Amino acid sequence: MSTTRSEALLARGQNLIPGGVNSPVRAFRSVGGTPRFIARAQGARLFDVDGNEFIDYIGSWGPMLIGHRHPDILAAIEKALTIGTSFGAPTELELELAEEIIDAVPSMEMLRLVNSGTEATMSALRVARGFTGRDLTIKFEGCYHGHVDSLLVKAGSGMATLGIADTQGVPKGFSDTTIALPYNSVEALEVAFAERGDQIAAVILEPVVGNMGCVIPTPEFLKALQTLTQKHGALLIFDEVMTGFLLARGGAQELFGIRPDLSTFGKVIGGGLPIGAYGGRRDVMSKVAPVGPIYQAGTLSGNPLAVSAGLAMLRHIKTHPEIYPYLEKITARLCEAPPPGVTVNRVGSMFTMFFTETPVTDYETAKTSDTARFGKFFHHLLSEGVYFAPSQFEAGFVSAAHTEEDIERTRGAIQRFFA
Ligand SMILES: *Cc1c(COP(=O)(O)O)cnc(C)c1O
Repeated sequence: MSTTRSEALLARGQNLIPGGVNSPVRAFRSVGGTPRFIARAQGARLFDVDGNEFIDYIGSWGPMLIGHRHPDILAAIEKALTIGTSFGAPTELELELAEEIIDAVPSMEMLRLVNSGTEATMSALRVARGFTGRDLTIKFEGCYHGHVDSLLVKAGSGMATLGIADTQGVPKGFSDTTIALPYNSVEALEVAFAERGDQIAAVILEPVVGNMGCVIPTPEFLKALQTLTQKHGALLIFDEVMTGFLLARGGAQELFGIRPDLSTFGKVIGGGLPIGAYGGRRDVMSKVAPVGPIYQAGTLSGNPLAVSAGLAMLRHIKTHPEIYPYLEKITARLCEAPPPGVTVNRVGSMFTMFFTETPVTDYETAKTSDTARFGKFFHHLLSEGVYFAPSQFEAGFVSAAHTEEDIERTRGAIQRFFA
């Protein structure tokens, strides 16, 4: 498999952009080798600049739930181009997208659109602090909520991949507002609330984790999150930037039957264009400017291209509920009968094959994975035309554009690695 042109672009890019990439995990640092520069994508396929073709399990890290270049989304973007690309004034389209989200996710009584998942979590946190008049936040080790200063404490995703526990550049005063606890630990949560319950503004979590690899919450943990936040007057924030509309139309909160105070969205709701959203309880969101005293704004927020792509995505999902059982079926098949020495975690179309025999329930157990062996596995799959995430600590994503034949081909490639 040729990588000549990707290598040349990487060399050129490294002089221009740190690591030649605009987001760290793309650089293949933890698995080694040359990141493939992508020329184009279609359905469940990626094509690189050297003419190699891959079955895509990254799905742009979540947004490509119905595959690349879906005709509904392309048509919506083309239509949006005829009206203009940004106005800095409100449009009806934004209300339609808000209505679609609110219709799918009952806890979202009001929301605000932003431009990324990071902006959504950053703003939700500010609103939680403004509403409660408290400063502290509980997050969980290995969860990633975007590159929000105070949340880059024991964070997952690229921080886990690169082995950075706490990033430089965040003032101590900011990280001191964060209490990082082990995921799924009811006891740690109880202790934190017992000690500082009257100072805690919010608990934020990935309701199914994707960013330390896929990790699933226990029912006891979910129950404790609800009862302890309620008891102590803290807000429960579900960061559904990854899981929203991906695991179910109503997100992880629909799967688990939980009504968080606030939620954040991104990824799927933009249909492949940059967007984010945060919202929840009406009394809380009523504190946001211009109605209330908590400030948050955005020049390109509600951008007509992104909103149109997102609307087309959410309408497609609403009119094609069969995609979820289909994704469940084909992803279950992909993850069936894991090879010896591998622990597979999966919810719906999100999965991770951890190279460990230890059940993975939190960041500590995720870290028992043999990342060197994972790197070999990753490159074996790549050489067979299968593109998994270039990190042990990320989830894989199957799209509705994946066929049963794609899944069987991928299974064959996996089996050959272990043969
Ligand atoms: C991707 C992600 C974010 C950050 O979103 P960006 O659009 O990359 O800023 C936040 N939270 C979760 C759970 C994510 O998966």
